[in-house]
Amino acid sequence: MRQAAASVPLAAGRPAPKSSSAASSGSGSRTRGNPLPLLDQRARGARFYSHLVRSVLNTPESTGIGCWSFNPYVGCEFGCTYCYARFAHRYVLERARDTGRVSSAEFAKLRGPNGWEGFEHQIFVKDRSALLEALDRDLPRLLSRNVSGDGETLLIGSSTDPYQPAERRFEITKAALERLLREHGLTIGIITKSSLICRDTELLAALSQRHRVLVNVSLISTDPALIKLLEARSPAPHVRLRTLRRLTQCGVTAGVLVAPILPGITDSLENLRLLLEAAKAHGACFAHPSPLRLYPAVRPLLLPVIQQRFPSLAARYREAYHGLGRAPKEYHAALVRRFERIAQVIGIPTQSEPRAAAGVERQLNLWPEQRP
Ligand code: SF4
Repeated sequence: MRQAAASVPLAAGRPAPKSSSAASSGSGSRTRGNPLPLLDQRARGARFYSHLVRSVLNTPESTGIGCWSFNPYVGCEFGCTYCYARFAHRYVLERARDTGRVSSAEFAKLRGPNGWEGFEHQIFVKDRSALLEALDRDLPRLLSRNVSGDGETLLIGSSTDPYQPAERRFEITKAALERLLREHGLTIGIITKSSLICRDTELLAALSQRHRVLVNVSLISTDPALIKLLEARSPAPHVRLRTLRRLTQCGVTAGVLVAPILPGITDSLENLRLLLEAAKAHGACFAHPSPLRLYPAVRPLLLPVIQQRFPSLAARYREAYHGLGRAPKEYHAALVRRFERIAQVIGIPTQSEPRAAAGVERQLNLWPEQRP
């Protein structure tokens, strides 16, 4: 059986779809001309819009992430500076504009003054009935590929957090998981930073009887100040660690997704050791690392933070990621090697990665740790 948490690239928590059609998950022509229905609005900012879909499961081919994936929401209130799912929000808005559902002026307003704020404050909620109908249509395609019975992987939360605050009110993720209770034999991966997943521990435990369920609690550091700097509204590290413990105590297989690991900021031996020790103490069944991906959508948010708070690293980031979205291969290999060595000492299983080439560990020394 394949390792769900380990066999898919889980960078920043979230692999990037190849195309806009994959990202928008099939908002269809039947929505042409209808305005965006506003579902709810918070006193301080966030607005939630209904998003009709005809198809919800992204195929591995459409995203390039190596497994099926599904996202109940487009946009995420946690607002991490390193999040590269912002592009998916833009695609949904562009489609709404192109199908006449929003005017050009509304489009600009919904995107936000700098073009990225909308991702955190204008959240698209997949319509529950449409989503369940779409799952009925899409699941047979996924299940038909599962002929070997080795657990075709479905990753929930590949682009946005399925247990972000909106889920408390709309329960779209819960509805999808309940639908999956009628199937069996899949490997279901879930990525989240949120303690709200504890609401569904019984459901996850029941699901684990029918599928292989792996919950990835996403955490890059145990340092609360650093988390506050890089993740605008995410739960504090201790809350996520408590979530990990609660899940494992309830019989759900859960571990930590350490992504993105930021060169020179969170890739130090000390940060990784403290994080993996804390994960182990809270029952983590596995740990998975992934280095930063500096895609175009991420640069305008993250690079200014690095320039301001880690000025000695700014030029190195620009140089190392020049023309690249992914981390340089040698750095990636050295990082994985470091991570696996620490995890082995602490006693947490990790994905087996190709061994780093001899000498590439030195590459990490080019990124001395910086404190803000
Ligand atoms: S929690 Fe939300 S904002 Fe942060 S990386 Fe995940 S999807 Fe992006």
